[in-house]
Amino acid sequence: MSQAAPRRTDGPPTPTGGNAAYPRAVDDLIGEFAKLPGIGRRSAERLAFHVLKSEDALALALARAIEAVKAGVRHCDVCRHLSDEARCNLCRDERRDRTRVLVVEQPKDVIALEHAGLYRGLYHVLMGRLSPLEDVGPEELTIESLLRRVDDPTGNPGGVAVREVILGLNPTLEGDGTALYLAEALRARGVEVTRLARGLPSGSSLETANRAVLADAITERRSVL
Ligand code: ZN
Repeated sequence: MSQAAPRRTDGPPTPTGGNAAYPRAVDDLIGEFAKLPGIGRRSAERLAFHVLKSEDALALALARAIEAVKAGVRHCDVCRHLSDEARCNLCRDERRDRTRVLVVEQPKDVIALEHAGLYRGLYHVLMGRLSPLEDVGPEELTIESLLRRVDDPTGNPGGVAVREVILGLNPTLEGDGTALYLAEALRARGVEVTRLARGLPSGSSLETANRAVLADAITERRSVL
């Protein structure tokens, strides 16, 4: 096995890692961009050169925005959506219908549904879906806190009892399995369980559905028998 060349702090760029033609700091920045989803090496180079060409204030604003999001954003204590306070904007909004809880896999599903603009209830983000193949069981998700929220109104915003749980999992094999598991656990608690209508093509996801399809999925939702 060959040893990596030692990192140098001055002089010409060192050949460790990426392109030796770049100064190390530029090479590091390209490397960090290249780790982002959907960003290949060439795009990473373009982004790095954009930062290099930008005025200091603009480039540093990007660095500060990344720092702020890591330091200040957390998950809502109630629904697990992204929040900058203990409870998210949606859970704090008294105009929303707190008797309804729409269960989704990820925070980005909440954002897609809010963008569709028809739903006025609350949410519960599972932070994934059951996946026996990937060793994701109920304990890895926020299922227990959902069931607690249904069992005990004090765990729901305003102390309002949950009357309807709408299952909004993605129409995939694992999403369907998770919905089935939740429907059984929830029905045993006497709460109404519905699911989004099947306007969503099988194998697709909420986040990529258009607004009209999402709006139909919400208004045409069906009771889970
Ligand atoms: Zn919340």
